[in-house]
Amino acid sequence: RERLGDLLGHWAPGRDTRPETSRRSYSANRIMAAIRNGELVNHYQPKVELATGNVIGVETLVRWRHPQDGMVYPDQFIAVAEASGVIERLTGWVLNEALAQSRRWSLAGIDLRMAVNVSMNNLASISFTDFVTEEAQCACVPPARLVLEVTESRLMRDPRAPLEILTRLRLKRFGLSIDDFGTGHSSLRQLCDIPFDELKIDKSFVHRAWEDETSRAVVAVSQGLARQLGMKVVGEGVEDREDWDFLRCAGCDHAQGYFIARPMPAEEFLAWLGEWRVRVPALLAPSPS
Ligand code: C2E
Ligand code: MG
Ligand code: MG
Ligand code: MG
Repeated sequence: RERLGDLLGHWAPGRDTRPETSRRSYSANRIMAAIRNGELVNHYQPKVELATGNVIGVETLVRWRHPQDGMVYPDQFIAVAEASGVIERLTGWVLNEALAQSRRWSLAGIDLRMAVNVSMNNLASISFTDFVTEEAQCACVPPARLVLEVTESRLMRDPRAPLEILTRLRLKRFGLSIDDFGTGHSSLRQLCDIPFDELKIDKSFVHRAWEDETSRAVVAVSQGLARQLGMKVVGEGVEDREDWDFLRCAGCDHAQGYFIARPMPAEEFLAWLGEWRVRVPALLAPSPS
């Protein structure tokens, strides 16, 4: 199995700018209780079109407002949720909430693609297709407006089930995105087997790519692949103007990252949108430096 990350032997750890939190781990029971007690909250991070600055969608990123520990980020509980099976309930909650939000925005005249991260462990049973279809229908969200972002997991038991489920979802016109492309978890094999319509270049290749030959090569190769396969390319981890300009020059379709916006609660989105529209003209002009 060839992995782009391994082939190129490249790994640049992403700069984490959020406040330093203690590395706790939480039990499956505690995570389950958090879902029941309403301690989870979805934040949304915009995806924008590099050529125009238009906002084309948002990605849902779950957070846990822990009553004692404060804001807990997914890296501290998704793995346990996956290993224990709690991920089924967690994804159900996140999806339901994201679709309700998508509907609210749509009624307010804001039609954006809503992306939800789905674990490979969610793709173990065929009923997931019906589950997603029914949830979208209940929320009056057309399939093409929902995007499922998938990252490969080592815990995957039977690789055939995900393949079948994803293919069925694609046939129903749901969007499929291969997340963290270029890292050990998103391989070329997957890209060939699954009908993705979006490829997200991992942030470790995007931030400061302009000064790193290897990263630039990964971005170029990923883009070439995506073009050939008819997929849109998103660069994630755009942290500064240099990253933004680099992706624009490289001909990448979409961008996501702290430079554009941090993941935010739904209530802040409209205000951000207003500010963004003011920022865009300067970002489409040649870089001031
Ligand atoms: P991901 O799907 O690849 O999401 C991107 C991660 O990068 C998010 O971290 C986001 O907050 C962060 N990020 C965004 N822009 C920047 C930037 O400019 N620089 C840097 N350094 N980071 C940036 P987060 O929210 O901690 O989520 C981590 C991972 O947890 C996600 O990676 C995703 O794989 C997983 N995850 C998040 N929400 C869910 C969920 O609801 N279900 C599942 N199964 N997984 C989730
Ligand atoms: Mg994602
Ligand atoms: Mg990613
Ligand atoms: Mg990730």
